[in-house]
Amino acid sequence: MFHHGKLNRQHAVIYFVSMVILMVVLPYLSIKLFPALVKDLPETSTYDGEIPDTVRIYLTKEDKYETIAFEDYIEGVVASEMPASFEYEALKAQAVASRTYALGRILAGTEICDSVHCQVYRSDNIDEKVSKAVEETCGQVLLYKGKLAAHALYFASSAGPTENSQDVFSGTYAYLVSVDSSYEPGATHKKEKTTMTISDFSKAIKKAFPEKNFGTIKKSNIKIKSRSEGGRAATVKVGKETITGSDIRTALNLYSTRFEISFSGNTKITITTAGSGHGVGMSQYGANGLAKKGKTYKKILSHYYRGTSVSTGESK
Ligand SMILES: [Zn+2]
Repeated sequence: MFHHGKLNRQHAVIYFVSMVILMVVLPYLSIKLFPALVKDLPETSTYDGEIPDTVRIYLTKEDKYETIAFEDYIEGVVASEMPASFEYEALKAQAVASRTYALGRILAGTEICDSVHCQVYRSDNIDEKVSKAVEETCGQVLLYKGKLAAHALYFASSAGPTENSQDVFSGTYAYLVSVDSSYEPGATHKKEKTTMTISDFSKAIKKAFPEKNFGTIKKSNIKIKSRSEGGRAATVKVGKETITGSDIRTALNLYSTRFEISFSGNTKITITTAGSGHGVGMSQYGANGLAKKGKTYKKILSHYYRGTSVSTGESK
């Protein structure tokens, strides 16, 4: 009886904290780590060769919508998503991929925002080289068997083969399959080490997946069980549960799921990642590498998006 009021207050606090985690932290983490997942788009996007003149963008920070010219939007995306110092053909490949992805969302009636959730867009940092790459590919999009290859995903660096889309996201797409990406000059995040105590590792995993029953997580029950075709961690045993490499990446905010796990003594765990990003579609550093080898943007795109071709686009 004496503790009654206090208990209720504790319950209210626990309820409130859980709700904040469920409604704010988890969506934020998934949005931060994965660009709009392939599953929010229908299987086939009907593309009739038309490129819209304008696009309506949700500006995240300002919390408002803005309608701008579609090709200006693509310029702002390429400028934000790839360094202007990259090879010209890589920038053109990025322009076509970004235009395709954006068109896919427009045709699906899905909102487009200016953050990593869709594609980062800023209008105040557009280099002349970027403008030219966008203009030269004006209206060009990626097609697979005559249809828009709407899920033209890309990521920073692969440090090895890319991934089959179904090994990372929910959908299977013939043009999103594991391909070689061995040449990535200057790629950052080659080997990133994250070291923590096993106790902190345990806390982070349990916090990220409160519905799972891991039991006691210790050195002897943390192990990579299987790898994807692209060589990334597919399933990982943690305590009494088996979770995916992506789950670990989300929980610990890792650069990629291409990781190794090692221990020092019985208390410390080190996770060493290579590459940066989800691994599906075009590696941007890989695109830069192929461009350095003299490949055109069309060759770069058909390498990373297998079986695709570039549409003729519209003459301006
Ligand atoms: Zn978005």
